[in-house]
Amino acid sequence: MFENFKKMQFKMPKKFSAWHIIIVFTFFIFLQMYLMNPGIRDISYSEFKKLVRDGDVLECHITNTMIRGRLREMEKGTTKPVVFITARVEDPDLVKELEFVGVKYEGNYESPWFKTFFFSWVLPLLILFVVWRFVFKRFGPAGSIMTFGKSKGRLYAQEDLNVTFDDVAGIDEAKGELQEIIEFLKTPEKFRALGGKIPKGVLLVGAPGTGKTLLAKAVAGEAGVPFFNMSGSEFVEMFVGVGAARVRDLFAQADLKAPCIIFIDELDALGKSRGANPMGGHDEREQTLNQLLVEMDGFDSNKGVIIMGATNRPEMLDSALLRPGRFDRQVVVDRPDLHGREAILKVHAKEVTLEEGIDMHSVAAMTPGFVGADLANLVNEAALLAARRNKKSVSMKEFEEAIDRILTGLEKKKRLMNKKEKEIVAHHESGHALIACSVPHADPVRKISMIPRGIGALGYTLQKPTEDRYLMTRAELLDRIAILLGGRIAEDIVFNEVSTGAQNDLEKATEIAKMMVKEYGMSEKMGLVTFEQGNRPLFLTGGYAASKEYSEETAREIDLEIKKIMDDSVVRVKALLMEKKEILIGMAKTLMEKEVIDGDELKKLLEELHKANGKKEA
Ligand code: ADP
Ligand code: ZN
Repeated sequence: MFENFKKMQFKMPKKFSAWHIIIVFTFFIFLQMYLMNPGIRDISYSEFKKLVRDGDVLECHITNTMIRGRLREMEKGTTKPVVFITARVEDPDLVKELEFVGVKYEGNYESPWFKTFFFSWVLPLLILFVVWRFVFKRFGPAGSIMTFGKSKGRLYAQEDLNVTFDDVAGIDEAKGELQEIIEFLKTPEKFRALGGKIPKGVLLVGAPGTGKTLLAKAVAGEAGVPFFNMSGSEFVEMFVGVGAARVRDLFAQADLKAPCIIFIDELDALGKSRGANPMGGHDEREQTLNQLLVEMDGFDSNKGVIIMGATNRPEMLDSALLRPGRFDRQVVVDRPDLHGREAILKVHAKEVTLEEGIDMHSVAAMTPGFVGADLANLVNEAALLAARRNKKSVSMKEFEEAIDRILTGLEKKKRLMNKKEKEIVAHHESGHALIACSVPHADPVRKISMIPRGIGALGYTLQKPTEDRYLMTRAELLDRIAILLGGRIAEDIVFNEVSTGAQNDLEKATEIAKMMVKEYGMSEKMGLVTFEQGNRPLFLTGGYAASKEYSEETAREIDLEIKKIMDDSVVRVKALLMEKKEILIGMAKTLMEKEVIDGDELKKLLEELHKANGKKEA
């Protein structure tokens, strides 16, 4: 009720808009000028002088800009004299002439107060008002000036969500990682008693539509706690200080409702790396981000407030957000694989009537690359098609048609690959994985996937570090470079051409080589010197230009050393992959069929392939 009442109040100014005021004003001005003075005769000054000389003028009022008066002549059919008006011309003899013919005259100083008032006060204020309304409609809530900095009179919390983990399918890994948080939210006292360490912030990383929001809601639903939902882009508004105030407000509200979850969607809109904009950045965003950091540091995680953020571009985030005590835990929400898609389809198919015997597995097989949101959309479209055809249940035919429709939409967005691209990606990822399995110092491969993740990356090979590493040897770094190069060189060997997909790999590899030479003193030729000083941003792609503290000649030598490391690595990787070309091709083939190969499967596959190829050679 209260909410409704507020909304009604906010609507009021809409009805009484600036345009109405302007129209009314104009109307009044016209009214004054014409309606109140009917039949004014506008004459020229020379005509006026002639009328004076002829004695036709009865009387006149002279102001500093014009002359108004009455003639002896009567208006047609009345006894009212004709009123005339003329612009005043500089004419020092006028008074004499008027005296001479005996016209009654009076001077009138017309103060221009009205015009001045209108042009210097009313009009600018009107314009300001109109602009202000416009800005608020575009960028913000339809609030009034009173709600600045307040929470738009809005409660962020959603309680009794009836979303549970059963509604979330196909992303079991992520669900597993969040289980602990649910336990904590359910019984914070228990955790406190045990002295357990609970993260304050959890970052959900995944492409749009993979179910990050759904997952966060499900965590709240499972734990039975309130869910505070805000989007990063909502925080960043036109006026400096509003975003920060909103963050403060959000945390204050959450504090009262603990245990609870604060979910911040599109965290990257808010937490973009602060050095990233050389043009001075966005003050408002920075303030808001700082406020968020202050709030996150300020509260005690034992209270039971968990902050979940979602992003599909973790590399864009300000490193300050990822420090311990903030979003220090990351949960990857992957695009679903075949089984995952089937499970998601089943969740959404519960709400529609399916034709008997329809097989969700084959629908899943037709939809590689679809994310949860696409699949939900698919079921919906199919049901709509069936309804349009007056069918009682949804059949395979509708699913096929709906897939076609969605595919054309998705293809426009360039999210799905054609066959040739798939082949290239399969060999590229197999190249990474095969090198990772062949070099001595690599972390074991956890997963190879052809399902695109993030922007620009078409597939990925995931290595799980066996332990957290702070020290790395030269050999380990060289192996890392080799793995990064493996993708591109595999493409080269198999297809005799390279694609643009490997650019990021090359960048990273070069970066490692550069650090080996410049920072770690790992180049024989340059010796034990470091050429880099000062802080670098956490992410190597950050926009800081390193200050050079060495000569041009040294710079050239450094470049040569970097190039040597890279060249040697290319030779090494090429040799390895040429030797195992058959295995590479076999791996790529399996990957294309399965889309995803996990660590154990990979081990088995490699054994089989080794055996098969061993026989061939024998
Ligand atoms: P994100 O926040 O990652 O962009 P959402 O959580 O907003 O994605 O997902 C949008 C919708 O897509 C959800 O409301 C749900 O209907 C559907 N959906 C997405 N992922 C899943 C999933 N894993 N299981 C079931 N439904 C899903
Ligand atoms: Zn790659």
